[in-house]
Amino acid sequence: MKRILITGALGQIGSELTLKLRDIYGADNVIATDLKKNDSEAALSGPFEVVDVTDGKTMVETARKYKVDTVMHLAALLSATAEAKPVFAWNLNMGGLLNALETAREMNAQFFTPSSIGAFGPSTPKDNTPQDTIMRPTTMYGVNKVAGELLADYYFEKFAVDTRGLRFPGLISYVALPGGGTTDYAVEIYYEAVKNGRYTSYIDKGTYMDMMYMPDALNAIVDLIEADGSKLKHRNSFNVSAMSFDPEEIAASIRKYIPGFKMNYNVDPTRQKIAESWPNSIDSSAAKEEWGFKFDYDLDKMTKDMLDKLSKKFQ
Ligand code: NAD
Repeated sequence: MKRILITGALGQIGSELTLKLRDIYGADNVIATDLKKNDSEAALSGPFEVVDVTDGKTMVETARKYKVDTVMHLAALLSATAEAKPVFAWNLNMGGLLNALETAREMNAQFFTPSSIGAFGPSTPKDNTPQDTIMRPTTMYGVNKVAGELLADYYFEKFAVDTRGLRFPGLISYVALPGGGTTDYAVEIYYEAVKNGRYTSYIDKGTYMDMMYMPDALNAIVDLIEADGSKLKHRNSFNVSAMSFDPEEIAASIRKYIPGFKMNYNVDPTRQKIAESWPNSIDSSAAKEEWGFKFDYDLDKMTKDMLDKLSKKFQ
């Protein structure tokens, strides 16, 4: 059994992860926290507390109150937003992470936080990007993610905190909208396809990035936190990806179900530059070997499910 505190629990990942963890470990054993409460299922279906991750005292007090044995740290400023507010991003992403790691150390708790393909940079090998390779990102978000991976490894080596992480690609879901990342186009395109039959992409054709459907991302989190720690050679963080496509390929996949779908381009230089600094496709073999990472959804299977679910949502 686990008793889990989640930060940033009402965001794109947290609003689904909270429900999945409550299904597995029991509603009372999953404490959702975020900057403020809303009327989402994640906020209402079990314990919820207001925790600003830059306030370490409140985070530790909340962890003590519920006697948690696992900390899942999701609160962060994502890549595109972080580029607009770099100093704020550093303080939130690094300060929040340090407080969450300290909370885990204090509670003797297991710790999970997502890293990102944004931790790679222009000098990283672009195709089949290895688990262990050059990581010199050129975005504030990427700098935060690399520093965060190192800090989480440091807490494992120095304080024996059981830290684990995943380098997520762009995550696609129909439940909550993404919060200002570079891969958000791959979510917006499905919403616009269902609502208007057309989409104007801010990412240019020919720009490949890794992606994963949310159900596979949630399974990966659970599989990693449940994995036998003695088998892990890596900890922070594992490459995981299910597919890699460019805007033309996702549009072609949508046309299999909505034949008249139209795609235009109005490239946003900031997000395009970030996308070009990231890998085309990463190699997830270390995750497969060390804890059995697997995924169910390829591009077409995901497209069908996204379009089905969104059509019902907007009926
Ligand atoms: P999101 O932007 O959708 O949600 C972040 C949540 O954090 C929001 O609910 C927000 O209210 C909360 N938050 C912001 N500032 C806070 C603060 N000071 N204190 C407490 N809560 C605060 O993000 P997400 O997509 O759910 O991402 C979660 C994690 O996964 C992040 O670390 C992100 O870098 C990582 N990640 C996400 C993706 C993706 O595609 N969604 C890909 C790779 C990595």
